Amino acid sequence: MSTVRNFNHSNLSDQPISQLINELIERAEPPSENYRHYLGASAIGSECLRKVQYDWMCDPVFPARIKDIFARGHFFEEATRQHLVAAGFKFAPADRLEFVAADGQFRGHADGIMISGPGLPNIQYPCVWEHKCLKAKSWRAIELDGLIGLHEIYAAQVAIYQAYFDCTNPALFSVVNADTCERLHFLVPFNSQLAQAMSDRAVMVIEATRAGELLPRITGDPDDWRCRMCSHRVRCWS
Ligand code: SF4
Repeated sequence: MSTVRNFNHSNLSDQPISQLINELIERAEPPSENYRHYLGASAIGSECLRKVQYDWMCDPVFPARIKDIFARGHFFEEATRQHLVAAGFKFAPADRLEFVAADGQFRGHADGIMISGPGLPNIQYPCVWEHKCLKAKSWRAIELDGLIGLHEIYAAQVAIYQAYFDCTNPALFSVVNADTCERLHFLVPFNSQLAQAMSDRAVMVIEATRAGELLPRITGDPDDWRCRMCSHRVRCWS
């Protein structure tokens, strides 16, 4: 059967049935007030100091779509972990994966610490394991250039884990391509300068926040692409 494309109809996403059902989904699970009580290692490398502060002190407003992206990340992290276990890697128990510093105000939770596994070039145990699931464009960027540019935030997170878990062997970083399910694995050597800089940054953010100081924005332009992607944009600029 042949189909004739109708060039007059609007995009199906714009039609009322789709929009109304998505509105019902959003209304069924409104964002709750639930700030974190601590500064998380995963956020400390963000370019924008105010975003680091907001990520700690304010509940980010995430629509259902973004929550589902987080759920997708958890799903692929567990899938990759199971593949690695089947391939002979052993992980430390879950109770070894959290660090707490600065009177409980700075914390981090690693995806894993590998305690043994196959003898592969340059891999040493124990090592921190960090996992991400990213869209194809980001996956490709990391495949080409590693943890630079937009992905420096992950390098900061890994350096903090290596330092605070006293696990300074090169970390194993695994990334799943969300489009194709390809997996990329590479080693991240310990960068002590980065770890120190991020630790100092955490102390600075905690002290400023305790003093009631609002840290500077990364830009003076609310339409900057980083602000357009930020879950705190309304709070920050209103
Ligand atoms: S909206 Fe922009 S300036 Fe404000 S916290 Fe987010 S990234 Fe920073």
